Amino acid sequence: MSIVDLFQEKTVFSFEVFPPRRNSPVETIYDTLDELRDLKPDFISVTYGAGGGKNNQSTIPIAEHIKKVCEVPSVVHFPCINLTKQDVLEKIEELKTAGIKNILALRGDIPEGEENRGDFRYASDLIAFLKEHGNFHISAACYPEGHIESADRVEDIRYLKNKVDAGAENLISQLFFENKQFYIFQERCALAGIDVPIEAGIMPVINSRQVLKMASLCGVNVPKKFQRILDKYADNPIAMRDAGIAYAVDQIVDLVTHGVDGVHLYTMNNPYIARKIYKATHSLFESTQKGNPGGSSASA
Ligand code: FAD
Repeated sequence: MSIVDLFQEKTVFSFEVFPPRRNSPVETIYDTLDELRDLKPDFISVTYGAGGGKNNQSTIPIAEHIKKVCEVPSVVHFPCINLTKQDVLEKIEELKTAGIKNILALRGDIPEGEENRGDFRYASDLIAFLKEHGNFHISAACYPEGHIESADRVEDIRYLKNKVDAGAENLISQLFFENKQFYIFQERCALAGIDVPIEAGIMPVINSRQVLKMASLCGVNVPKKFQRILDKYADNPIAMRDAGIAYAVDQIVDLVTHGVDGVHLYTMNNPYIARKIYKATHSLFESTQKGNPGGSSASA
C-alpha cells in the first residue's frame, strides 16, 4: 500500500529503524521488529547505511520482512550519492522484486573532503528518475531548521519545493527539539506552495554526548530546557532515559494537538523507549482517526 493514503485517515505515527552493523547478522533486528509491530505503527522505515554507499545489503530484506512478516507497511531509505544511473536501475529492479513500493529518496551525506561522484546531484534528480522508471510512492527528507549545507532557510525551502514538484508525495523531517521551529517551517512550506503531508521527526534522547554530536552535525538548536536535562542527568543513564522519553512525549502531545500530519519516531532500535512513548501517546493518534472524533478506546 502507498503510505500517502495513511495521511488521509489519521495523524500518522511511524517508526524508523536501522540495519544491524555490518558484522552483526541481519536476524538481530527481527526481535526488535517483533516488539515494534505490537505497537501497531502506521509504517516502519529502514535507513540505508550512513553516508549512502552501494554495499548495504540488508535494508531491502528488512523492509520486506516488515511488510510480509510484521504486516506493517515499510519504507526503504534510498540515498543516491555516488550512484550511477545504472546502479539506480539495478536497485529499482531489486525493489520491484521485493515488492517494495515506498521509498524515501535521499541524496545522502557527502563525507568530508570528498565529492559526489554519482550521476545524481540532488535528491530531486533521484525522485524524477524513480518516477520515470517505476511506480513508486516517494517520500523526501526536510529540515525544519534548514539543511546544514544551505545558505539560508529560504533557499532550502525553494529546493524542497523542487523535490515535491519532482514527485515527492510526503515529507519526513529531521529531528528537532523545539516545536516552534517546526511550526515556523510549516508556515514557510505553506507560503511556498508545499502542500504535501509533513511528518515531524522526533528523537528521544538517551545519551547526552550522542545527542549533542547529532545536533551539531545536523545544525539543530538545543533549547535551554533540553540542555538542562542533558546537564543534570549526564551521569545518570536511567534518569536521562526517563527524562528523554518525557521530553519526547511532551513534544508529541504538543505536535498532535497542533494538528501535525504525522510523527516519525527515530526508535534507535530500542523497543523499550518506543513502547513507553507509544503508551503515553497512542490514544492521541487514535483520536485523530476519521470517524472517531470523540477520542480513543483507552487500552493500556
Ligand atoms: P537534497 O534534497 O538533495 O539537499 C541537499 C542539499 O542541497 C541541501 O542543502 C539543499 O538545500 C541543496 N540543494 C537541493 N537542490 C539544490 C539545487 N538545485 N541547487 C543547489 N542546492 C540544492 N542519509 C543516509 O545516508 N541514509 C539514510 O537512511 C538517511 N535517512 C534520512 C532520513 C531522514 C528523515 C532525514 C531527514 C535524513 C536522512 N538522511 C539519510 C540524511 C540525508 O541523506 C542528508 O541530510 C543529506 O545531507 C541530504 O539529503 P537530502 O535528500 O535532503 O538532499
